Amino acid sequence: MPDRLPDALNDKLSRRLSYYEDIGIRLFYRDRVVARAAEGFEQAVATIPIPQEETLPKTSPKPIVPLAPSIVAPTKPKVSVLPIAPKVSLFDAVNKIADDSLLKIREDYGECTRCKLHTTRNKLVFGDGNPKAELVFVGEGPGRDEDAQGLPFVGRAGKLLTQMIEAMGLQRSDVYICNVVKCRPPENRLPEPDEIKTCSPYLLRQLDVIAPKVIVCLGACSAQTLLETNRGISHFRGQWLDFRGRKLMATYHPAYLLRNPAAKADVWKDLQKVMAVLGLEVKKGKPAGTQNPA
Ligand code: URA
Repeated sequence: MPDRLPDALNDKLSRRLSYYEDIGIRLFYRDRVVARAAEGFEQAVATIPIPQEETLPKTSPKPIVPLAPSIVAPTKPKVSVLPIAPKVSLFDAVNKIADDSLLKIREDYGECTRCKLHTTRNKLVFGDGNPKAELVFVGEGPGRDEDAQGLPFVGRAGKLLTQMIEAMGLQRSDVYICNVVKCRPPENRLPEPDEIKTCSPYLLRQLDVIAPKVIVCLGACSAQTLLETNRGISHFRGQWLDFRGRKLMATYHPAYLLRNPAAKADVWKDLQKVMAVLGLEVKKGKPAGTQNPA
């Protein structure tokens, strides 16, 4: 076993551990880690010693690997549950474009071939909704249905997102919905750092143009990208955070809620905070769909 893992593997492992933590898995047993010989990453993970019958501590020894190691300030474990604002942001490199518009951004994408996702995508999923929305939802990346239709959140998770939006007293057409990466990662795998790095400046432009009051990050990928942290979403979910002067709320991804309906109550709490900031009537109790989670 080498002392140090290769950066790429370290990064993948870190993101995988964050994902497990986000979905509530903190206990690992060595004999449950199954190496699937055909899958190099799984195999590599299985060879890494994992403390037996110990919960993974929230701060260490889980490797803290910033998304952009060269430009993200070192995190200070145990100081704060909030992500620490990087001194130099990935997004600082994005120049403001005069008279930018969603149309311009879409035209700039063109038939994008900037990252490897273009080789397997069917349709680029730019985003959809009110270009002047006060509320923007940012997901991870298109799935199969989105890739087929060219629209964000139109599959099962999308139907749940629509219900969530309607429970807030809004319609989908009132809000804007987009993703960190605009092309479907094969097999719905997590977007990789190079793909995120290539695509996220366009997301930033979308957010700058729309200028919403509130950004809701759906899931860890979106929150970690905008906040430039690799801390698990459970550390900062439900708290108001700042994204370049805008209010940002990170909550669980609807796909996670489909697998873990009990977490709908947390998401509803988060959305009620969003509603309060947007001046939407916050009704007492749970919205339809959370009492009897299916
Ligand atoms: N999941 C996402 O993150 N985005 C979509 O558009 C659909 C599912």
